[in-house]
Amino acid sequence: MNKEDFVIWLRNNRSIKEYSINRYANAIPTISSEMKDYGINETDLFEITDTMLIDKILLHPEFLKRDKKGNRMYSSALKHLKTYIEQIRDEKSKPQDVTLAEDAPSEEQNDRGDLEYEEGKELLRLHKVRERDPKLIKDAKKRFIKLHGELFCEACGINFEKVYGERGKDFIEGHHKKPVSEMREGEKTKVEDIGMLCSNCHRMIHRIPMISIEELKKSIKLNWAGSF
Ligand SMILES: [Zn+2]
Ligand SMILES: [Zn+2]
Repeated sequence: MNKEDFVIWLRNNRSIKEYSINRYANAIPTISSEMKDYGINETDLFEITDTMLIDKILLHPEFLKRDKKGNRMYSSALKHLKTYIEQIRDEKSKPQDVTLAEDAPSEEQNDRGDLEYEEGKELLRLHKVRERDPKLIKDAKKRFIKLHGELFCEACGINFEKVYGERGKDFIEGHHKKPVSEMREGEKTKVEDIGMLCSNCHRMIHRIPMISIEELKKSIKLNWAGSF
């Protein structure tokens, strides 16, 4: 993770002003470079996974002195970072994500063979890991706006901003279009492989067996024709 990811997380998870978000995000590299003063080897705090280090800094007398001078801005930044790291760690340690758990295979699907299913599950996990890459999704959104002038779901056409106003601005989910069966571990995902989907269509596509955006688009037209 890096400063940019932390800024995004603060924006989405903490109700604080943009001004403070930037101050907190900038405080982390500063504290990272001052670690020697707190008896700890210089470490990039954005890279750590063990939050014990943060607790250690928070208790150091020299840090407390500086923090007091800075109106406790440093300690606030570190506490946010700690929550952020813990949240990411919890998400990673989940055995599988929610959609997968809900989309447990039917008996019929299990008949196709447990091995095939297990393999499919692993590939789907990989697929979702890629869809969670914030940089990739951000670039894909940028590319889509450049092409179409706005963000909308490629399956049903919903534009979140048009429906939800300011709250829906810039909201869309990225979907990895390449069939999971064709993905290989370590393969780099291209921006053009990411499709834009609303949350409903995204979940519909991910139900097992997974279908393509085009296929979903067809069934929407077929079933919901009157609305378009
Ligand atoms: Zn949609
Ligand atoms: Zn997807």
